[in-house]
Amino acid sequence: PLTPAQIPEFINAISAAINQHADEITELDQAIGDGDHLFNLQRGLEALQSHAAEIAALDWPAAWQKIGMTVMAAIGGASGSLYATLFIGLSKHGKDKPTDMRTFAEALQAAVAAVKQRGKADVGEKTMLDVWVPAAETLARAASSGKDLNAILDQVCAAADAGVESTRDMLATKGRASFLGERSKGHIDAGAKTAQLMIAAIARHIR
Ligand code: ADP
Ligand code: MG
Ligand code: MG
Repeated sequence: PLTPAQIPEFINAISAAINQHADEITELDQAIGDGDHLFNLQRGLEALQSHAAEIAALDWPAAWQKIGMTVMAAIGGASGSLYATLFIGLSKHGKDKPTDMRTFAEALQAAVAAVKQRGKADVGEKTMLDVWVPAAETLARAASSGKDLNAILDQVCAAADAGVESTRDMLATKGRASFLGERSKGHIDAGAKTAQLMIAAIARHIR
């Protein structure tokens, strides 16, 4: 099973994926946001890298909590408080429970629900939730059907890919992109794209 000792590798894998798509991420947030999403994520990831050894020595709930607090302190944008909510949610719902895939999937669904509440948003509003919600639902469904790990990861990645693409023709009703109204249509949401990149990087690293 995965342990927090592997967290530094995951942070590095996510960081590499984000950096590989740097220009694309900036272009997306420039088109319908304020262009800082790449910078915000990089600041968060750098802060996590500098605390990685400390985080790796914790148990899962404490590690998620520390990740959430680190991200909250490092990222100023909307994505900072939303990702902090996600990780702190994982911490709360993972306490006193085994760390198998099913339990993680349940905790992820609860954490994503906390992000919805925090941002007063849901699927269909052209945000990161258009990736996190279907990815978490697919993980829960696949994990409880007893599929093997590769099949589970394939399904989660496919759900995340479809989620990103679904944002293209949506009207943004939350976040900065909502200020553009109809003009927000025709562009993928930057936060949805980076959520998909993170999920793909984690899946690739687990396999
Ligand atoms: P900011 O918009 O404050 O500059 P970022 O650029 O880092 O912050 O993040 C923007 C991303 O955050 C958007 O692309 C979108 O995916 C996500 N987002 C914004 N508002 C919300 C919300 N209320 N709920 C969920 N996600 C949101
Ligand atoms: Mg922005
Ligand atoms: Mg900003």
